[in-house]
Amino acid sequence: MIIARFPDISRHLNPSHPNTTLIPLLPASSMLSVLNSFVKAATLAVMLAAGTGALSAQVAPIPKPVSPAGPVVIVTDRALDGRGNVLRNARIGVVDGRITSLHAAAGGATIDLRGYTVMPGWIDTHVHLDSHFDRTGRIATESEPPMEAALGIALASWETLMGGFTTVQTVGDPAEKPLRDVIRDHGFPGPRVLTSLAWIEGKGDNTGTPEQLRAIVRERKAQGADLIKIFASTSQRVGARPTLTQAQLEILCGEAKALGMRSMVHAYRSQVSAAALAGCNQVEHATYATAEDITTAVRMGTFISPQVGLVVQNYLANKARYLGVGNYTEEGMATMARDLPLDFEICRIAASTPNAKVVFSTDATAGAHGRNAEEFLGRIEHCGQSPMVALVSAQSLAAQALGMSNRIGTLAPDYEADIIALDGDPIRDPTAVRRVVFVMRGGVVYKWGGSKRAR
Ligand SMILES: [Zn+2]
Repeated sequence: MIIARFPDISRHLNPSHPNTTLIPLLPASSMLSVLNSFVKAATLAVMLAAGTGALSAQVAPIPKPVSPAGPVVIVTDRALDGRGNVLRNARIGVVDGRITSLHAAAGGATIDLRGYTVMPGWIDTHVHLDSHFDRTGRIATESEPPMEAALGIALASWETLMGGFTTVQTVGDPAEKPLRDVIRDHGFPGPRVLTSLAWIEGKGDNTGTPEQLRAIVRERKAQGADLIKIFASTSQRVGARPTLTQAQLEILCGEAKALGMRSMVHAYRSQVSAAALAGCNQVEHATYATAEDITTAVRMGTFISPQVGLVVQNYLANKARYLGVGNYTEEGMATMARDLPLDFEICRIAASTPNAKVVFSTDATAGAHGRNAEEFLGRIEHCGQSPMVALVSAQSLAAQALGMSNRIGTLAPDYEADIIALDGDPIRDPTAVRRVVFVMRGGVVYKWGGSKRAR
């Protein structure tokens, strides 16, 4: 590209300030001879910048730290493959951040995880990494200083990674995009992030005309969203009432699909079947739904995710930190506490329905980050899932829900080296999910004491 000849022009060009002085860093003697082409180049640069909004594209980004070129061999005696199988004595080869073999020969660095249970890093399909407590210990609001908000989302992502979650889908805030990008492109420590950015809130007829609905979805895509998140019901704390028709959901989820994006819908009551029939990909919560709603969702192939182990319990445990902000009221909290058994019941119905895709999703907010694994215990205790089924729901099944089933969620050659280890065997002792001793994401080790468990 011609402007590459003037590498320092970009910092002096600002298309929004037409009087910006251009200061080419060239010897004076060559100034006249290149003046014409320089002016053309500068004009081109302005045009490009105006057209793409991406002046920064003219310099190479700072590269992210690379994972060890390898090879690394992870020696195991008990591993789960993420699809429901137990592997004995696997030797996981890792090169350039990817798994190359489960029978790797000796060579390169060795990480000895014998005595632990090794498995694919967990995937939480629904979190809110932006949600955190502020310096006073209360739920942070818009008035928090931006620097503190940024540190809050960064801390939440670190805690989540340390809890064994190597991929999350965070659904509801524009701040999730820079977080996603800095983790992906610049080696910032955190889980792999997918984001919906701001959610689309149903407001009945006031949500918009069909064309306006489609425009909102296209706007999210243009803003960089990986999926769209739709509120088709009001919060459980304020009545769980429907806010979109099935026809409106068809427009939103249909437009997302046409653009190559998935759709996630916050739905209670019969909105569960409405979202499923509208072709939306994943339905969250499903509180107050009926067995028929679940059957419809299963028939449509919709991923379903009731929450039974973390989000409500966390709200109640931290009630004083939330009260007084938005719809966090005593009454709303009481409703969640009262109706938690209904969540258990709908989860049991879903889990016992053949072919149901009950995917892992915590809805983690402030206070819950890093404890996402509590949902496994809830699934086992309150929902009747076996430990293996619960784990797979956060591995290969969650990868399928994210459209990434050929990249993550499974221990097999060619998959990303997203690997964790637990102290204990979660199949026999589910509380082992609280004891994550090793975390590797994309071949980079983020957590490992380096000491082998006494056996
Ligand atoms: Zn949520």
